[in-house]
Parts: sequence; structure tokens; C-alpha cells
Amino acid sequence: MDFVKKYFLYLVRWQLSTPILAIVLKLLSNMSTLTATIIANLIGGLIFFWVDKVIFKKTSDVPLWEIKNNVTCYDCHKKSKGYRIVLWGNYDRTDDKNPHYRCRDCSIKKMHTIAK
Ligand SMILES: [Zn+2]
Repeated sequence: MDFVKKYFLYLVRWQLSTPILAIVLKLLSNMSTLTATIIANLIGGLIFFWVDKVIFKKTSDVPLWEIKNNVTCYDCHKKSKGYRIVLWGNYDRTDDKNPHYRCRDCSIKKMHTIAK
């Protein structure tokens, strides 16, 4: 996502928090302004943490590789230096609990399947 698009989305997201803030402050108008604002911001934070996470999600135009020594290739089971693509466009394996490493040849084949 380019910078201008991301910035615009972020400004729209701030406007979305306006009605939530207004409604909560109206509903809690019997409370002190400070307490009502704290509660409204807590509700906003619970919702917009997830929205912001999507807006600021990292993407990469070029593949980000992780290289590890002495691994068994996931595809051909050969012992060698292992490669895997961690991040590339929408392909995101940054939180992969069980990452698959491949030998040089198999990792290039895998890269072509991701590129499709
Ligand atoms: Zn292999």
C-alpha cells in the first residue's frame, strides 16, 4: 500500500472513531467528562487496534528471505542450507509457528509458485 493511500485510510479511520466517541460520551453523560472519555477511548482502542493493524500491515515488493544452516529441505528432504520467503506482497509468513525451509533449488521453485 503506498503512503498516500495509507495516510488517507488512516484519516478515514479517525473519522470512524468520531461517532463511537460521540455515542459513548452521550450514553455516559451522567458520569464525569474524564471518566466517560477514558471509557470511550478504551472502547475505541479495543476496536481500532485491529483496524490499525490492517492499515499498517507491512508488505514487501521484493521477497524477504530467511536463510538457515543445516536444514532438511521440506520438499526433497536433502540436507543443506535452507531458504524460505518470510514476506512478499500479500504472502506473509512472519508469524509462522512451523516454518518450511527448502534447499536452493526447491526454494526457487517455491518462489515461482508464490509469484503466480
Ligand atoms: Zn529441496
